[in-house]
Amino acid sequence: MRKKLVFATNNAHKLEEIRAILNDKVDILSLSDIDCHADIPETADTLEGNARQKAMYIYEHYGMDCFADDTGLEVESLNGAPGVYSARYAGEGHDSQANMRKLLHEMQGKNNRKAQFRTIISLIEKGEEHQFEGTVKGQIIEEKRGEAGFGYDPIFQPEGYELTFAELGHDVKNKISHRARAVSALCDYLSKEQIH
Ligand code: IMP
Repeated sequence: MRKKLVFATNNAHKLEEIRAILNDKVDILSLSDIDCHADIPETADTLEGNARQKAMYIYEHYGMDCFADDTGLEVESLNGAPGVYSARYAGEGHDSQANMRKLLHEMQGKNNRKAQFRTIISLIEKGEEHQFEGTVKGQIIEEKRGEAGFGYDPIFQPEGYELTFAELGHDVKNKISHRARAVSALCDYLSKEQIH
């Protein structure tokens, strides 16, 4: 029988991305597939803690193997902020434009514009946790450029590129992004498990 894993998300884009990578090796179920409509708590103060909290919630309430992800933008000259608070940096509204405005404001006059996106995936199998990490380094530019993507994409320029994530578009971004790298580490692990 094929392995079943819950991905603790209802984000259609993330589901599609991971299903495409895992192909037919594992059945990935979303939260709505398991009839979970709860507001899963995310109250930890680290990416690692939040990813674990979400995956454990599903394992404990539904008894199914599961994984969850959490991502943050970490800016060196701001001591790692906005980090785990990236989604609500400018307040609870999850407003990307307001978040970018706040970040550009905080960075006024800073010469060090180095930053990285970091994704943590927590996988819970039979109650045991394995974590996977993916990062992409780059810099925060001074003004927004580009229309594609979401979140902080218009102000993040990955190392080795002259364009922002929002200018590079999905195809390039999905090859080099933090999330793609974390997902790929998870997939390597799951593929090895299938063989043994
Ligand atoms: P999540 O953990 O994937 O929901 O990400 C938390 C927040 O980090 C999002 O609300 C965005 O503000 C930001 N973020 C995550 N991934 C990306 C990305 O690929 N590009 C730009 N912003 C991102």
